[in-house]
Amino acid sequence: MSAMERRHTASEVAQAQFEKAARYLRLNDDMIAFLATPKRELIVHFPVVMDDGRIRMFTGYRVHHSTIKGPTKGGIRYHPDVNLDEVRALAMWMTWKCALMNLPFGGAKGGVAVDPRQLSLGELRRLTRRYATEISILMSPEGDIPAPDVGTNPQIMAWIMDTYSMHRGYTTPAVVTGKPISIGGSQCRLEATGTGVMVTTIEAMKKLGMEPRATRVAVQGFGNVGSISALRMYEQGCRVVAVSDVTGGLYKAEGLDIPALLAYAQQHGNIAGFPDGEPTDNLGVLSCECDVLIPAALEGQLSASVVPHIKARLIAEGANGPTTLRGEQYLLEKGVVIIPDILCNAGGVTVSYFEWVQDLQSYFWGEQEIMNRLQRVMLEGFHTVWDLAKAEKIDLRTAAYAIAIRRVAEAIEARGIYP
Ligand code: NAD
Repeated sequence: MSAMERRHTASEVAQAQFEKAARYLRLNDDMIAFLATPKRELIVHFPVVMDDGRIRMFTGYRVHHSTIKGPTKGGIRYHPDVNLDEVRALAMWMTWKCALMNLPFGGAKGGVAVDPRQLSLGELRRLTRRYATEISILMSPEGDIPAPDVGTNPQIMAWIMDTYSMHRGYTTPAVVTGKPISIGGSQCRLEATGTGVMVTTIEAMKKLGMEPRATRVAVQGFGNVGSISALRMYEQGCRVVAVSDVTGGLYKAEGLDIPALLAYAQQHGNIAGFPDGEPTDNLGVLSCECDVLIPAALEGQLSASVVPHIKARLIAEGANGPTTLRGEQYLLEKGVVIIPDILCNAGGVTVSYFEWVQDLQSYFWGEQEIMNRLQRVMLEGFHTVWDLAKAEKIDLRTAAYAIAIRRVAEAIEARGIYP
């Protein structure tokens, strides 16, 4: 990231994206101020007893950006760089994502500033149970429903659900999504985000006349979103020529064996040492010869200093906020098509919605039904955004934001301002 760009925090990026679409919609200043401001922000500092008997203090967050359209929904991130600004941005993105996909939720996000890989399983469990207790004043099946994000997984969601249920005195599966299937999780939730990335990417490829068999794909990040996106694109017949994770990258012009790499990563925890492809670094993956680039790691990766090296003509934002403001400006001027995060990675929250509905009804759907419903929601979202962008000659992100913001603004108008 360039020195100039470092000044844009995640919240500034989210605000600038919002303002661009709000200007397009000609919203009045009062409505802009309402929509731009988070509803509530909780910061918690809490102790955890470490394995050596010492007490360590941690800081966590839970932000509700909007409750206008329903209970808030959004993941929980465990990462050393988690801070209020980032959580605030991620919460706002969730509001637009849910509105765009027509899910009856507002946006939230949470996180703890911690590197989960440095903790033992017992420490991770105690940290999770304490954090869940600290944010339980905001969390409930009717009020705020967390889910996994970077550094968290179904096991952590299980501990959150169990902690909340212990306090209540009865089991409350609908308080969190992305749980193991044995305790009320949904079929396909684990694969939902990456599957949605594939559905929107293949649809955009059709629009651009790109044949899967002639398409080379590069993926940054090989966690939940990156690995499943890579697998799904591979299954569609694309050549996945490069992938990276925090340990480094791999490149192979003929295409990597993604099922084998996935099995290797599941066994080793990362892709380092996989005996195929040439080792490369993060920039090597982002700038390799490819047609589709899927950033699926963290925010701010496609910055002004990186984008001139990008060869892909289609970018599918698996991650939230991977493209900086100047990065996007450059890419759009070059004619690169960007499927924006709030559309591209919305498969996760969509199946989270299905999970919540199933939990509330205690009635569970089959895999095929969920896949069909996910496909329908993703395609509808994609075509609504694509058609508006073409009709109005605006970029896909502005179109996606405009649709989402208009829906939330209409809900505000309908409800009125209390009292
Ligand atoms: P994860 O923790 O499962 O995986 C993150 C991956 O990124 C890991 O492979 C890690 O090694 C890699 N990574 C971290 N820093 C990197 C770097 N500098 N270069 C290359 N790789 C790097 O997280 P996830 O759940 O897959 O989330 C990834 C992104 O997708 C985040 O932006 C998240 O907000 C977004 N997202 C996740 C979901 C979901 O359902 N999990 C849904 C929507 C959006």
